[in-house]
Amino acid sequence: MAIKNFEVIIVGAGITGAALAYELARYTDIKSIGILEKYEDIATLNSNGTSNSQTVHVGDIETNYTLDKAAVTKKTAKMVEKYCLQHNYQNKIMFSHQKMALGIGDKEVEFLLHRYEEFSELFPYLEVWDKEKLKELEPRVVFDENGNEREENIVAIGAKDQWTTVDFGKMAKCLIDDAKKEESSEVELFLNTQVTDIEKSSKRGYVVKTANGNSYYADFVVTNAGAHSLFLAHRMGFGLNLGCLPVSGSFYITNEKMLNGKVYMIQNPKLPFAALHGDPDVLADENTRFGPTALVLPKLERYKEGTYMDFWKTLRFDANIAKALWKLFKESDIRNYILRNFIFEVPFLNKYIFLKDARKIVPGLKLNEFKYARGFGGVRPQVLNKDEQKLLLGEASISTGEGLIFNMTPSPGATSCLGNGLRDLKYIVKYLGKNFDEQKFNDELTDGDTCPLPEPIRSQKAVVNLIRAEIARTSEKYNKNLHYNKPDKDFWDKPHSKIKDA
Ligand SMILES: Cc1cc2nc3c(=O)[nH]c(=O)nc-3n(C[C@H](O)[C@H](O)[C@H](O)COP(=O)(O)OP(=O)(O)OC[C@H]3O[C@@H](n4cnc5c(N)ncnc54)[C@H](O)[C@@H]3O)c2cc1C
Repeated sequence: MAIKNFEVIIVGAGITGAALAYELARYTDIKSIGILEKYEDIATLNSNGTSNSQTVHVGDIETNYTLDKAAVTKKTAKMVEKYCLQHNYQNKIMFSHQKMALGIGDKEVEFLLHRYEEFSELFPYLEVWDKEKLKELEPRVVFDENGNEREENIVAIGAKDQWTTVDFGKMAKCLIDDAKKEESSEVELFLNTQVTDIEKSSKRGYVVKTANGNSYYADFVVTNAGAHSLFLAHRMGFGLNLGCLPVSGSFYITNEKMLNGKVYMIQNPKLPFAALHGDPDVLADENTRFGPTALVLPKLERYKEGTYMDFWKTLRFDANIAKALWKLFKESDIRNYILRNFIFEVPFLNKYIFLKDARKIVPGLKLNEFKYARGFGGVRPQVLNKDEQKLLLGEASISTGEGLIFNMTPSPGATSCLGNGLRDLKYIVKYLGKNFDEQKFNDELTDGDTCPLPEPIRSQKAVVNLIRAEIARTSEKYNKNLHYNKPDKDFWDKPHSKIKDA
């Protein structure tokens, strides 16, 4: 049964689909937008507040981001902040906590200090906190269960008064509500409407077919259906050189509020997934949620029935996929990480193993202070590139050039929702011959260029130098080797050249 012709249909009402709908309705002259959602409500999968870490990933404390990536995430994160402030959603769906990246031991401390120097121009509000300051700001990262200070040197770079946390599930609902309020555009949401196929229409545009037997017509279709975007792309013959590896993430949660803000650890450069962090959960009385873990599960959706067959179809397993997986598994760091993450799901045993990891953040953490967060977590749809036999960590977007886009958005996809929407919007208006009010968009959702403030940076650099000098003094004092006699004189004169020769 033919229902209606939309100018744009969006498949999937997670945060990505919701953001695009809002942007199209508010900033373009597109008149009709249809959103087709498989489930009974908006954002029941990865965008739900319990599925992700609720973090606005700006790039300032994420040590797995390069400066280039941070410059992009900063811009898109700002859009989330500006949207929430514009609609007065602060302290309703967007919250402020202190946040920090924590370096433990001399190597990580030096890494963070160096990183501060590299990133402080982009993020002039960052501060450097030594152990004394951390005792005041985040005491549980300093003291063990007996109230003794941890022995290692620690330092953090962080910020106090930034918007750090968003309930992305609620934000998705707000985005769709606000899109519907735009009078110049008609936005319709169809729940319980699972798209099964997208076909080229014999007249113009596309026919979108659904499991309940209805067909919807559109000039342009954007699929923002998480891992199922690739599933639907494959059904149309696009992205066949890609497979999807669903990496689920689980969490552990404390019984009481333990950390005052977000505490991120330093990324192990050999691992493809973000290091463990602790975050106050705005949906669980600010109790600390540690995670996420990373485990490949043979299904595309967490906590929903089925999707096992969809997993196999979307993986498109062949020799190239096997080689891509083997490349990962043969790296000992990654292999150990995968096995360890498997144990994080094994009842009873998991808490003991997790305790060891989480104690890196909170040295005095006790077994009875936290539990496995049942029902929390989601799936990151990571993409495997068959041509290169490689796991891709970023987002994947397939634009066919014929009025179709398929997006897969692993972390930090929720933070990037309005940025990704802007990218697609620009192409959609061009393709459909419509107009984009870029001035209005920039005025409302962007903050212009970064404006480095030299004074706070200068004073923070002084703190960096003090911490470095302290480390050097301690090293001078205690870190001495003891050698009685030096029999091989040559070695002591030119130790490095001697080692090279050997
Ligand atoms: C453990 C974990 C932690 C994370 N932490 C963060 C974080 O702190 N900050 C951050 O920015 N990002 C984070 N992310 C990533 C973020 O959650 C996702 O990038 C984001 O939610 C993706 O949104 P989406 O709308 O693209 O996909 P989803 O939220 O998965 O929504 C897809 C929608 O499409 C619908 N759909 C699927 N198939 C069909 C179909 N056939 N027909 C119709 N509808 C369909 C689904 O029902 C769903 O509503 C995290 C992810 C995980 C898993």
